[in-house]
Amino acid sequence: MRYIVVCLAASAAFPIVAFAKNAAVCTTGTTLRLNASQASQGSLLLIEVRSTKSLVELQGEWGGRTVPIWQEAARERQRKGLLAVDLEKAPGEYELKLTGQTATGEKISCSAMVAVRKGLFATEKLQVGKEFVEPDPEQVKRANEERQKLRDIFDHVTPERLWDGNFRIPLDGVTTGSNFGKRRILNGNPGSPHGGMDLPGATGTPVHAAQRGRVALAEELFFSGNTVVVDHGLGIYTFYGHLSEIDAKAGDTVETGAVLGRVGATGRVTGPHLHWGLTVERARVNPLLLVKLLSNPPSEEPRKKPSRPGTN
Ligand SMILES: [Zn+2]
Repeated sequence: MRYIVVCLAASAAFPIVAFAKNAAVCTTGTTLRLNASQASQGSLLLIEVRSTKSLVELQGEWGGRTVPIWQEAARERQRKGLLAVDLEKAPGEYELKLTGQTATGEKISCSAMVAVRKGLFATEKLQVGKEFVEPDPEQVKRANEERQKLRDIFDHVTPERLWDGNFRIPLDGVTTGSNFGKRRILNGNPGSPHGGMDLPGATGTPVHAAQRGRVALAEELFFSGNTVVVDHGLGIYTFYGHLSEIDAKAGDTVETGAVLGRVGATGRVTGPHLHWGLTVERARVNPLLLVKLLSNPPSEEPRKKPSRPGTN
């Protein structure tokens, strides 16, 4: 019964959506805010850049990776971005650098140090049959080819933002999941950490697209069984595994909530559930954080105090 184990990372990693002040150094007329001054492995931070002038360009980089940045509606003086911390990123301090240009041709830049702490992940020790730890050479070959295929997909950054609005949890009525980042030790040997979140659901439960996007993959894979991957643009991908059936085709454009397939137990699993993953610029992060961050936009007046403590 592996799915009843409480996932520490899911609750501990939730940031409070209130932008930290003085966290950054910027050129005059520009401010950078992050919803937290430090992050943990597998987490996401929301970036907000504001300028006194309209911006025509803004790029960002953190820890050697591009930061997805977008503009919402007609907010020409503002940009938002996501800083994604892979669940195995080495703890330490990494510099966030942003550079851009205003409509009147002035160069702008911001920089901030963002610390990464170790994530609080559960560890599971399992004794399993040899066939799980040592698959036959044919299976190893297949699994390696599929791993490379997924890597190639996640390496590709679609330059347009295909999503619009909040992300949702793919199963109706489900508010949380478990096992994100869990370290597994199989017969005494550490395996790779669990890269997604397991959501509870009976076989046949509809699985909905978390947001609008384009189906990048819809096929059966060795580990994750019937799998759908949706490209939301700007390097953001959601992953849906172990489906009993697939109801989408590669290349399809899907809207938020579209049925991609049904919950199942295909691939290497012990029972039906949805394996839901989120990859942002190749970093494996907790998908619930994206739902949380984009549905709690920071206040338009950051200096105004919340009316009641504890609300966000
Ligand atoms: Zn899983």
